[in-house]
Amino acid sequence: NDSLVSVKNLKKYFPIKGGVLKRTVGHLKAVDDVTFHIQKGETLGIVGESGSGKSTLGRVILRLLDPTEGSVHFDGEDISHLKSRQFRPFRSNMQIVFQDPFASLNSKMSVAELIEEPLLVQTNLSKSERREKAIEIIEKVGLRKEDLLKYPHEFSGGQRQRIGIARALVNHPKFLICDEPVSALDVSIQAQVLNLMKDLQDDLGLTYLFIAHDLSVVKHISDRVAVMYLGRIVEIADKKSLYNNPLHPYTQALLTSIPVINTKQNSSAKTEKVKLTGDLPSPANPPSGCTFRTRCPLAHDRCAVERPEMTEIEDGHFAACHLYTTKDK
Ligand code: SF4
Ligand code: MG
Repeated sequence: NDSLVSVKNLKKYFPIKGGVLKRTVGHLKAVDDVTFHIQKGETLGIVGESGSGKSTLGRVILRLLDPTEGSVHFDGEDISHLKSRQFRPFRSNMQIVFQDPFASLNSKMSVAELIEEPLLVQTNLSKSERREKAIEIIEKVGLRKEDLLKYPHEFSGGQRQRIGIARALVNHPKFLICDEPVSALDVSIQAQVLNLMKDLQDDLGLTYLFIAHDLSVVKHISDRVAVMYLGRIVEIADKKSLYNNPLHPYTQALLTSIPVINTKQNSSAKTEKVKLTGDLPSPANPPSGCTFRTRCPLAHDRCAVERPEMTEIEDGHFAACHLYTTKDK
């Protein structure tokens, strides 16, 4: 087994408090029974609308949030219930790049301080060793060593994201979670940053979990793609099968809303048919049975009463939809 990351039956429920006593009156099921693995050197794309739980999933994997149930294995070790001190050796191997890398960071810190901070926290390197590493990584992300003396506000959005990537990579992690790293950037800049991330992956032997809200962004960079809806993965497949032969009605709907439609002659005709209507239901009160049924044009009686399980429909291509399963299974 060559998995670097393996997630099994992972759940993250947030309690909903109500009434004067602030008792728990329900749960927001942000991540609800999610299972997948990521091979070493692979990029798994995760796509879903905002509110689908994809960012929460990333944060639970990185132990920024505790899981409610289930497990996360990293390099063969269960990290899902480690205390922060026990997690420390893993921390430097698992990093995250956010949509706005400086939203949560001190704007008074220079680029050098920002990039060197993880080394200060995670290593015993000297000041000059830290600077050496910062110079090395800033050049790898396409900036110059003089840029280390500047401040984030002096850079464009694309350059700031390069700095965010440098900060994430400076201590040589094995695994990077990319949480919508290009969503805030102009389309032309998006392509540059995505190309950079792909080059860095090849160069440094990285494994990526790449989160996005539309399928066009992850198409370029992913080996396999998972589609999330209301805290669950509804379809997962290698990139080619997912884009050429989407099985789940939700994936089909997402593909019809991609501005640049796949022009290959074998692209599936049924992707033309499904139009997504209505809003995402609340994860605090999801529909019974198949949670997509309130928006699914192909919903039928069984969909309201029985939850569709993930089923391997073609080789390595899984979907959770009653259209593909027989009732007596
Ligand atoms: Fe649509 Fe039913 Fe399939 Fe859900 S299980 S996606 S409602 S057809
Ligand atoms: Mg998000």
